[in-house]
Amino acid sequence: MTASLEKGISVLKEVIDAPIASYFNSCVHCGMCAEACLFYTETGDPKYTPIYKLEPLRRVYRQEYTLLGRLAKLFGLSKPVTDEELEAWKPLVYDSCTMCGRCSLVCPVGNDLVYMVRKLREGMAVSGHAPDGLVGASTRAVEIGSPMGVRLPAVQAQMKHVHADTGIEIPLDVEGAEYMVLMSSMEIINFPEYLGAIARIMKQAGKSWTLCSDAFEATNSGIQIGVSDIAKVLVQRIVDGAEKLKVKTVISPECGHAYTALRWEGPNLIGRPYTFEVLHILEVLDGFRTQGLLKTKGYEEARLTFHDPCQLVRRGGVIEQPRNLLRMVARDFVEMNDAGQMNWCCGGGGGVSAVDEAVPLRLQAFKIKKAQLEETGAKTLVTACANCRIVIEEGLEHYQMNIPVVGVTETLASHLVEGD
Ligand code: SF4
Ligand code: SF4
Repeated sequence: MTASLEKGISVLKEVIDAPIASYFNSCVHCGMCAEACLFYTETGDPKYTPIYKLEPLRRVYRQEYTLLGRLAKLFGLSKPVTDEELEAWKPLVYDSCTMCGRCSLVCPVGNDLVYMVRKLREGMAVSGHAPDGLVGASTRAVEIGSPMGVRLPAVQAQMKHVHADTGIEIPLDVEGAEYMVLMSSMEIINFPEYLGAIARIMKQAGKSWTLCSDAFEATNSGIQIGVSDIAKVLVQRIVDGAEKLKVKTVISPECGHAYTALRWEGPNLIGRPYTFEVLHILEVLDGFRTQGLLKTKGYEEARLTFHDPCQLVRRGGVIEQPRNLLRMVARDFVEMNDAGQMNWCCGGGGGVSAVDEAVPLRLQAFKIKKAQLEETGAKTLVTACANCRIVIEEGLEHYQMNIPVVGVTETLASHLVEGD
């Protein structure tokens, strides 16, 4: 056994806790999780059944923690997990799981399959079986500060552009501001309109806010690759920045997993509660709406629909906020079939969009989103995650569908009453 495999197996043994043991024991092999997974429904291939993707973890559980499994291992009657097997499982654990949580929601015995995938990724990463794209992203996140290699000067360049466009100076490192705004590198590079929209909304709402030069990036590639130590470093960076600036609230951007990583997993990763609150930008904007701080004019005339980012709708509980906000500015807002809690994933979450080898499968899985969209007859798609946005744009391009994809924040900002 190679040293890295030994480490990987030892990590897998460590991550098998009471919930994981009970999940494996309680599985009734009903197959309902398969029907919930877009990689299974769009390919019909049984290897994409969620519980099957966890087979190496199940084998370690049986061999180490059940009497029969231990006896079988002792007498050489069970197959040990090997490097070849983990390498063969890489496309099942990374390329074909967006950690969307749809399977966890439908499992009749309550198995949290996403939790199990996350734990299996821990062993896969340590034993050297994580995809190169994710290894590169998490290395850049730790060493440079962002998974796409974005540095502070790139953020400062965007700040200057926004100032030139809006006349609003973007605050940086302002101690005592109420809100600290995070962005994802995708927003900095691909969707700079997000920062301009925040600036205009905060101005109208009369709120103090700031970016932080030490912690502007929200993305947590440690969660995606499955390395808790990296996830912890990235959360700690944000915590240090927020505590140094003494802000009341940290705003997670239009990104799905960044929100769940920071809000729900972060305190456990760093081992203590935060001294500040974490909210998703949609929660903040909907709060402004209920306080009467947002004044809008005019409506989007084209039919709009909304794509729910999985981490927000299933694991974050952010469901009504985008709908409340879109109804302020859309005359013809229609829901997709399965919208809300059971919405289908874009196909690129959970780090899948960073894996080059996964592109053909991802485009095949996109057929479900394509069908959902076509049924609505919508002329514009709105979402609240920069990663979903890029993945959907690629899917639409591939299937030659001419539907613009925009964010909620910028859509709202484009209807703010001028000069107020
Ligand atoms: S839905 Fe739950 S019980 Fe059914 S096969 Fe999947 S994990 Fe097992
Ligand atoms: S989390 Fe989503 S993508 Fe992953 S196995 Fe479950 S349904 Fe499939």
